[in-house]
Amino acid sequence: MGDWHPESPARLQAIEDQLIASGLSSLLVRRDAPLASTAQIERVHQSCALSAVRDALPGPGGYHPIDADTLLNEHSWLAALRAAGAAIAATDAVMAGEFANAFCAIRPPGHHARPSTPMGFCLFNNIAIAARHALDVHGLDRVAIVDFDVHHGNGTEEAFSGDPRVLMTSFFQHPLYPYSGVEKSGALLSNMINLPVPAYTRGETIRDLVQAHWLPALHAHRPQMIFISAGFDAHREDDIANLGLVEADFAWITSRIVDIATEHAQGRIVSCLEGGYNLSALGRSVVAHLRSLASLG
Ligand SMILES: [Zn+2]
Repeated sequence: MGDWHPESPARLQAIEDQLIASGLSSLLVRRDAPLASTAQIERVHQSCALSAVRDALPGPGGYHPIDADTLLNEHSWLAALRAAGAAIAATDAVMAGEFANAFCAIRPPGHHARPSTPMGFCLFNNIAIAARHALDVHGLDRVAIVDFDVHHGNGTEEAFSGDPRVLMTSFFQHPLYPYSGVEKSGALLSNMINLPVPAYTRGETIRDLVQAHWLPALHAHRPQMIFISAGFDAHREDDIANLGLVEADFAWITSRIVDIATEHAQGRIVSCLEGGYNLSALGRSVVAHLRSLASLG
């Protein structure tokens, strides 16, 4: 999105570096991501959201702003299709029993992308597209989406609010972009467990909230598959926001999600990278997340 932008290719390089340094790299089975089809994207997005990307691509070297923080370059359409395609392919592989779970190291992220429009660094809502794929193509009746990015996943909420097949649990710093997720009631929000927390909230408080609010709701929902919007910008070293989580907190949260998946979902989890902009903290946190997904302790 431009050399100044925190959502940069260096993020995936930082993850790769830490996977190598940790020794985890050699234990992973890797797949390249296919492109999603427009029909798969349209399970979540209106045609105007697709055309906002496809029909607005600038020429070589140029940038087209969708909003102040969200820009397109000449490659953005294919990059967005490939990010969503990874989430779909991971869902297919996990449903086929090839893997218990999968992590998609993808960008651009997705959870702010609304059905009608890209926003907030996000072009298409990768996690929502994968969840709809699991429901519509694989015929699942109940899925859960767990979002631990520091920002509220407004696009995902908009895609699924009021849909009893989907339980979404999240915490997020509030007030903070996109300033949503704090409406208190209404039938459309009955499947949303939103936990807004103030700046400087630390990991132990987050763990207590997860224990008290997420886990009972997840057990009651009995999801057949769990999707994780895995943002690591709640890390205390990440300056895009002001929460105080560390790698061990991401590991703990992930292990609780693995517990739920093991009990209700045959272990099935697809996790997709969302935010995380301090490169060192991002790489270390992804390693902690993957160790927990692999139950390596
Ligand atoms: Zn974020």
